[in-house]
Amino acid sequence: MRCPLCNSEKFKEYNHQGVVIDFCHNCKGLWFDKAELSLYTSTGEDIPELEKVLSSAKKTEMICPRCPEVHLVEMNYHPDEPLLIDYCQNCHGVFLDKKEIVHLQEIAAKHKLTGIKHVLSKLKDDGFMMIA
Ligand SMILES: [Zn+2]
Ligand SMILES: [Zn+2]
Repeated sequence: MRCPLCNSEKFKEYNHQGVVIDFCHNCKGLWFDKAELSLYTSTGEDIPELEKVLSSAKKTEMICPRCPEVHLVEMNYHPDEPLLIDYCQNCHGVFLDKKEIVHLQEIAAKHKLTGIKHVLSKLKDDGFMMIA
C-alpha cells in the first residue's frame, strides 16, 4: 500500500488497542479506515455532519490507498471549521496529514468534543511524533 500524499511505500499498518490505522513513516500522514477515526475521537461518527461538508467537497489528485483509481476528495472536517481533510467516497476512509491531526485537536478543545482532545496524546503515547 502506498501513501496517498507522498506515494511512499513506508506506509505501514499500526495497531492501537485493536484499532488498525496506517501511518506514513515518510510524511507522517495517517489513514483511518471507515469507523476508525471515530474510535480515536469518540465522536460517534468519523465526520460529524458528513452530508453538509460533502456538498462542497473537491476532487484531489490523491488516490485512495484502499481503492485503486478512486480519487480522494478534499472537504471540511466540520462545517464551521477551516480544517480540510481528504476523504474517500468509496470506502469512507479519511487521510490526515501531520498538521491536520494537530488542528483536529484544537477543534476538539473549542467544541468541547472531549474525545478528540486525546487524539494527539494517544498517538504520541503510541510513538507517533507529529510535530517537529
Ligand atoms: Zn506519506
Ligand atoms: Zn477508498
